[in-house]
Amino acid sequence: MALDSLTDKTVDGESAESNVTSPATAGNEVIDLLGRPLRDLRISVTDRCNFRCPYCMPRERFGEDHTFLPRRAFLTFDEIEKVVRACMELGLEKVRITGGEPLLRPGLDDLMGRLSNLGLDLALTTNGSLLRRNAQALAAAGLTRVTVSLDALDDDVHRLMTDSDVPVADILDGIDAALEAGLEPVKVNCVIRRGINEDQAAKLVRHFQGSGVVIRFIEYMDVGRTNGWIRGEVIPSADLLSHLREEFDLVALEAERPSDVAVRLVHSDGSGEIGLISSVSEPFCGECVRARISADGHLFTCLFASGGHDLRALIHSDENDGNGEGLSAAIAAIWSRRSDRYSELRSAETSALPRIEMSYIGG
Ligand code: SAM
Ligand code: SF4
Ligand code: SF4
Repeated sequence: MALDSLTDKTVDGESAESNVTSPATAGNEVIDLLGRPLRDLRISVTDRCNFRCPYCMPRERFGEDHTFLPRRAFLTFDEIEKVVRACMELGLEKVRITGGEPLLRPGLDDLMGRLSNLGLDLALTTNGSLLRRNAQALAAAGLTRVTVSLDALDDDVHRLMTDSDVPVADILDGIDAALEAGLEPVKVNCVIRRGINEDQAAKLVRHFQGSGVVIRFIEYMDVGRTNGWIRGEVIPSADLLSHLREEFDLVALEAERPSDVAVRLVHSDGSGEIGLISSVSEPFCGECVRARISADGHLFTCLFASGGHDLRALIHSDENDGNGEGLSAAIAAIWSRRSDRYSELRSAETSALPRIEMSYIGG
């Protein structure tokens, strides 16, 4: 399969879920300057994490002396629900709860219950370490699917990739708990860094073959300014696929939607599916329909943004208005000015620009 023939990716690993070539037709749907609707919202519920993956929160920059957001700065669940409702008026279809590590936020099942009542596609991304103790409650609250990040099957490599002592067995147990709770499909996201965990890719594919769990490999990205990203550490998906094909007979699937970001492949014997997300080698911003909200309520229109829009004041003035339209109109105004396409423009010059950290903006 020619990976370079695919034009339907965003940089950050989840499907864009929308065909932006369709003109806006419904309700108050909002379109940005490049004709992209707002369909997908990632909500960070905390900037804290119990891991220190060096590609995301390197310990030397997120150590004891790092100042995290004070908990009183977090958007409340009421406020989050208001923002989601406002975005739904503009065409929002999907919400993903993330962080930092979202399962560190107390009462997350309460938030899931509120959001699942809104009739959206609702998902969660987690490092899996706390999933065993949370999966049943999240499913009971209305969460239907989950993505677990797992970069290695061997403990020594997992330790390198996450800078934590949480054993791989705990993450695998978390995945089992998700399956037992019916949070399907369970997807596993794996970031590959050259020289560190590329030997884990085939092991992970082998491990999840026949399990129903879909493993997706994501190219290492230059998110934030602290991870010391260098292009040489990125293994292009095409190279990874050649490597995997030495062992596995993988057949490419047609994209379900033109805008799906992952190239999907199945084992020819029907024993499972894998995905490749070429965030760096084949960037695609043209179909990016995603916004992000940081835990303290800033709206970002791109993963690589250098600044966001403070929603809290807008939420409160909207509460005073009482009709909910003010917040929606304010978000529409922000979205309609959007022209972000960082990954398509990635270069030495763009790399020098300030960028928000992923643990803050929400991965
Ligand atoms: N803590 C949760 C987790 O790890 O799943 C949720 C937040 S994390 C920021 C979300 C996703 O971003 C994870 O799958 C992680 O692997 C990915 N990620 C973080 N930094 C990245 C980078 N520099 N390049 C590619 N993916 C990255
Ligand atoms: Fe934490 Fe997730 Fe970032 Fe790793 S990728 S440091 S688990 S927020
Ligand atoms: Fe990623 Fe920004 Fe491009 Fe969207 S617009 S795909 S967030 S770089």
